Amino acid sequence: MSHIGKLIIVVAPSGSGKGTLIDHIKKTFGDEIKYPVSCTTRVMRPEEIDGNVYHFISREEFKKRIDRHYFLEWAEYSGNLYGTPKKDILDHIAQGDMVLREVEIQGAQAIKKTMNASELVIIYVDAGSWKDLEKRIESRAPLSEKELELRHRRFLKEIEFKVSADYVVSNKDGEIDEAKKNIIEIIRQLQN
Ligand code: 5GP
Repeated sequence: MSHIGKLIIVVAPSGSGKGTLIDHIKKTFGDEIKYPVSCTTRVMRPEEIDGNVYHFISREEFKKRIDRHYFLEWAEYSGNLYGTPKKDILDHIAQGDMVLREVEIQGAQAIKKTMNASELVIIYVDAGSWKDLEKRIESRAPLSEKELELRHRRFLKEIEFKVSADYVVSNKDGEIDEAKKNIIEIIRQLQN
């Protein structure tokens, strides 16, 4: 438990290695950090477990939860809805816990507007230029021209958000070990 409860938001373009960094944080800090389960309407991937990172719910159920003010923020991303549970996060912060969640930029912008600045930390993972990222994305799975163009447009908005972050962790090609070390150091500082 930290002295002052904080929400750490991790924002990163797709292909930036954010998943690897978050896994590393989980391994390093274990129960010291809380990971709220978000809701999404997207289809569950084969390796995923309901209730682990996401609760997979229908669009209808998601809309009901919007109406009930269940979410701290919610956003549409690639045709699917994503939302962070308000009570879960705020209860942990009130207890002085450190809470970590990855969100896309609309969510991060909404949280920045609503949360107390002293309780919020935004970490941006910088994977370099679009050219670098495009290479990484393409090496994972071939994408259509249209999908690539969509990712590019999204990247331009994401990179604009970088200046709003409290910390930027560089994770360009070959930097993963350094990036892991840096993100752990940032969180350790926040615990003190
Ligand atoms: P994926 O479907 O690949 O797991 O996530 C797609 C995007 O949704 C990622 O950029 C991820 O950071 C974002 N995301 C995950 N959970 C939430 C959430 O609760 N709220 C918002 N706004 N974005 C989220």
